Amino acid sequence: MRELTADEIRASFVNLHDPAPDLPLPGLHEVVWEDREYLGWRDPSLASRGYLVHETPDGIVGIVLRRAEPRSGAGVPAMCSLCHATQPATQVALWSAPRAGQAGRDGATVGTYICEDLGCSHIIRMLPASSPWAIGSGDLLEGRSSGLVERVRSFAATVLSTR
Ligand SMILES: [Zn+2]
Repeated sequence: MRELTADEIRASFVNLHDPAPDLPLPGLHEVVWEDREYLGWRDPSLASRGYLVHETPDGIVGIVLRRAEPRSGAGVPAMCSLCHATQPATQVALWSAPRAGQAGRDGATVGTYICEDLGCSHIIRMLPASSPWAIGSGDLLEGRSSGLVERVRSFAATVLSTR
């Protein structure tokens, strides 16, 4: 993704219904933007809150997420719905996003399993090529990357949907 400014990120959130929380930004100077499909981070003062910002054809879209309590005794591998990496259950969390608009203000949310640290971009660059979900020869990372972008956009579209 292209480099974003702090102002662009702050202005991008579509589902912030709480009155102006103090939005903690990650260290933007440390971000390797060309290796990111989305910018994801957790709130350092509230581990159960996360942020996901990405670029769409309609502009920058940021989403606030809330993490559900970890499932107890979860020992089964889980799959992240965005990067499709299968990992130990503790590495994947159920995150829910308030919907945009009135539906969200009324309490409607969209939930999905996402890498616990919102670090899908790192995961797809670390996974071995022999991973069972690999998409054939070609440029493996390119395929993973475009798949991740597509699924993040689709998730954001659900959050933005007024249905
Ligand atoms: Zn992931």
